[in-house]
Amino acid sequence: MSEDKKRILTGIRPTGALHLGHYAGALENWLRLQDEYDCFFLIADYQVSDKADDIDSVREAVREIALDWLAVGLDPERSHFVIESLIPEHAELTLWLSWWLPLGMLQRNPTLKAEMAELGSNSVPVAFFTYPVMQMANILMPKAHLVPVGEDQLPHIEMTREVARRFNRLFGEVFPEPEGLVGRVPRLVGLDGNAKMGKSLDNAIQLKDDAETVTKKVKGMFTDPTRLRATDPGHLEGNPVFMYHDAFNPDTDEVQDLKDRYVVGKVGDVEVKQKLANALNAFLDPIRERRAHYEARPELVREALAAGTSHAKRIAEQTMAEVRSALRLNYLE
Ligand code: ATP
Ligand code: MG
Repeated sequence: MSEDKKRILTGIRPTGALHLGHYAGALENWLRLQDEYDCFFLIADYQVSDKADDIDSVREAVREIALDWLAVGLDPERSHFVIESLIPEHAELTLWLSWWLPLGMLQRNPTLKAEMAELGSNSVPVAFFTYPVMQMANILMPKAHLVPVGEDQLPHIEMTREVARRFNRLFGEVFPEPEGLVGRVPRLVGLDGNAKMGKSLDNAIQLKDDAETVTKKVKGMFTDPTRLRATDPGHLEGNPVFMYHDAFNPDTDEVQDLKDRYVVGKVGDVEVKQKLANALNAFLDPIRERRAHYEARPELVREALAAGTSHAKRIAEQTMAEVRSALRLNYLE
């Protein structure tokens, strides 16, 4: 029974539909581990304060993400699809955990620092600064052992381990120390050559993009800026087109042939990109098909979210009973 298995908790912010970076960085591991672990997949809608002036987009993204999960093959019969804010215990645990997180540790967190710089530090809501604390609460709530994420999230897991250790030292073994697990491609670069493909960065190929959109996006991709003509020798390092070939084109002979010709100036960008678009479209086709199936059956999407959330709510109530007892909040008894 699922109750005996170790647990996975991992999540996504509802800031848009999912992209190739999510697949190679995280979802692939989630799919693979669904049998071995009792999995909690969370839509982290408390953690999108950068979308505070556009609540409608958050609502839409919640639906899109659930559809994308079903489309890639996550299975609500085995795993729990959870909407974070429908379990307000997350907010309570966030506040308690913040007691044991030194401010400096949060300020030094490299991912948070980079994201705040991207948003413009002074206009960032306080809730954005503290989202990694809520992520700790997400992970510790179901007492997860494993957290499969992209590389950018590892600093948050490190902080979670530290806070769990501190809590346990003071109050006894309440929380396991969670481990991070990074995917096959730890950080997929963006179409524009940015170090990370991101939902909020407008540099992504979405899993739901149709074939024409994918081909158009690939045609516009950043390549080797030093190469002006097809006869110029090209560079493979830092070239997103070849990084995507390596990540998503299963025909390794074709990829090797393109690389061999590229470095000696014997192939044009047009051919390299056309072959990438073909490979991506072949990879995305079955995902698009399953997505269309669920888009036509919105009640299945709703049921998946409702069942997973109510299961996670029961677990959260159990954990919070333990936390309140550890903190000796029974003042009135
Ligand atoms: P946003 O830009 O709004 O923060 P995002 O694309 O970063 O969106 P998240 O919801 O923050 O997506 O992250 C969900 C999961 O996907 C995390 O585990 C994250 O590490 C992983 N992930 C996101 N982008 C990438 C990427 N480009 N490569 C690998 N993993 C990624
Ligand atoms: Mg992110």
